[in-house]
Amino acid sequence: MGKIREPHKKNPFDIPNYGVRDFQRARVYTAEENCSFWKDPSSLKLQEVLDIVRDISFWAGIKEPRSFFERPLQMEKQIPTNVAFAAPDLVCLPLFACNKPYICHEMAHVISYQKGPNDHHGPNFVKVYLDLISSFMGLAERDELRSELSKTKAKVGA
Ligand SMILES: [Zn+2]
Repeated sequence: MGKIREPHKKNPFDIPNYGVRDFQRARVYTAEENCSFWKDPSSLKLQEVLDIVRDISFWAGIKEPRSFFERPLQMEKQIPTNVAFAAPDLVCLPLFACNKPYICHEMAHVISYQKGPNDHHGPNFVKVYLDLISSFMGLAERDELRSELSKTKAKVGA
């Protein structure tokens, strides 16, 4: 008899509030798909990615996470191949994610994990994410994302 895998019950990266339901993830993803700046973002060099991750960490007053551009070996069975991924102390940014929108999204998770309360893609995450877009991309991008988030009825924290 094979073992039944229950990956969702495990929390190998110590994500805070791991079991809290991620109730508005689809609304956030849809809003992003509808933003012009998410459609064809310019790719950054790896050093530029590292610089932005460091700048965002300083801006937020968090411990800088380790950046990975390929899935590290020890994660092999724990996260799917070729996804952008964040944990309290790391960001995994495959080449397609080496751009400002992806970095802001993943770093909003890192900030939420370190500062709390983590609510996955909930109102607290969205608030941090909008502040990041405003500071590291611009007000026009922040306003566009906020407008698309309101169309998908995603809640934004106060
Ligand atoms: Zn996310």
